[in-house]
Amino acid sequence: MTAAPESRLLIDGVLTEARSGRTFPNVNPATEEVVGEVADGGVEDMDAAIAAARRAFDETDWSTNREFRTRVLHQLVDALDRHKDDLRPHIVAEVGCPVMLTHAVQLDSCIPDMRWDVDAIDRIEWESELGVHEFMGMRSNRLVLREPVGVVGAITPWNFPFMLNVSKLAPALAAGNTLVLKPAPDTPWSATMIGKIIAEETDIPPGVVNIVASGDKAAVGEVLTGDPRVDMISFTGSTGVGKRIMARGAETVKKVFLELGGKSANIILDDADLDGVAMGGMMICMHAGQGCAITTRMLLPESRYDEAVEKLAGAFAMVPYGDPTDMSNLMGPLVNRAQYERVLGMIDRAKADGARCLVGGGPATQFERGFFVQPTLFVDVDPDSGLAQDEVFGPVLAVIKYRDDDDAVRIANNSRYGLSGAVSSASLDRALGVARRIRTGTVSVNGGAWFGPDSPFGGYKESGVGREHGLAGFEEYLETKTVGLPAT
Ligand code: NAD
Repeated sequence: MTAAPESRLLIDGVLTEARSGRTFPNVNPATEEVVGEVADGGVEDMDAAIAAARRAFDETDWSTNREFRTRVLHQLVDALDRHKDDLRPHIVAEVGCPVMLTHAVQLDSCIPDMRWDVDAIDRIEWESELGVHEFMGMRSNRLVLREPVGVVGAITPWNFPFMLNVSKLAPALAAGNTLVLKPAPDTPWSATMIGKIIAEETDIPPGVVNIVASGDKAAVGEVLTGDPRVDMISFTGSTGVGKRIMARGAETVKKVFLELGGKSANIILDDADLDGVAMGGMMICMHAGQGCAITTRMLLPESRYDEAVEKLAGAFAMVPYGDPTDMSNLMGPLVNRAQYERVLGMIDRAKADGARCLVGGGPATQFERGFFVQPTLFVDVDPDSGLAQDEVFGPVLAVIKYRDDDDAVRIANNSRYGLSGAVSSASLDRALGVARRIRTGTVSVNGGAWFGPDSPFGGYKESGVGREHGLAGFEEYLETKTVGLPAT
């Protein structure tokens, strides 16, 4: 692959322009410049992509030939790994994420992590026998088969686009499904560049992977979620769109897997080390707060509230931010103008609701261009207020005061979301005890990282349905068939 990003769709093994001939602009959120034009996939392109995926599933041996899948998926991982330095600048340009993040989860670590799913092909018990059972006077043996679901429609957001694209691609393909991927309009290259590598550097057969970028946020995705030829939707994005996809998937009774929003709580117990706490709190500014699992509510004990707030304010005032291509920056801009205006609007509402803004609280006017918002620290936040309940998706921390451990658990669980959380204490047992009471899909105890290719990740409540990664994540992409045989 040359260093230029790919602008074409991948349909039935062919890199192609949109059938309409239209393109849409890809904008760098740090400079507001158009950095490239991308084929603007329409309804007719999506229709062709679904047809190709259906044919590849129904008429080739992709779904059953595990040895072949293993070989070509390792080939894909090798090719992505070879090209990671070509991909890096384009990901930074379209996402606006700090380049330091591409040396971790945004790019470098998620490529080798794909091998966990490829290796899972050998770990899955594809056939198992239940043994003999008597039913209505007949003795039967039962065989349980695991099979791919079929055609998977994958829909992804813009915040960690490359990582989320491969997090769906790897298990869906390893399990034997074929796939149509629709990336977010803000970050098409993080998908189309994978398409180019698949087409030019792997033996993955035509139709197994199809990539339809579109400048339209919803219409082309709605074709995917409504089409009866699609068996499953794997979606990562906002809770609002997730609800819409669940309702639409119901029309054709699709399997629907949803990774949605969060408003996670970071509970600081009264014996915790407050210097570490302040640094951890400031880390919510990583990637300008545009992460679903970021702990954007910090719960502080009233006995140490003032001391902790002072340390937090000091840490927030020092957040390095600006040009995302600068390795020393922790955060760049927000992804687009709409997000920028939305976040500034939420900051204004929080002030009107009576929260005290200690650091930041407005646009970062030192930059002439780009969608930059100041790292922002609110304290004395009412746990029922909009700032405590709604996902901001910006560099904004809401600090809430609590009385005792029971009160902290109650406030943490006072959320329609349940994606992640954290607990810190001088006592590991005490922190773990609190972690067990938090109704979320992941929790960090004393800074421990829950993330890994084998760690199931997902949400309780309105944060989602199902799990990504690990065995639980792989099994989302499998069906179960039970076969009855006469007992011999
Ligand atoms: P979004 O929900 O607006 O869009 C996500 C994707 O859905 C995009 O590709 C978009 O084009 C598509 N889409 C929008 N409307 C659609 C429709 N009606 N039918 C089909 N597809 C449709 O989300 P976003 O703004 O791109 O991303 C931010 C959100 O994603 C945040 O809420 C964040 O918490 C969430 N997120 C969750 C996770 C997780 O794993 N839980 C990870 C990252 C982001």
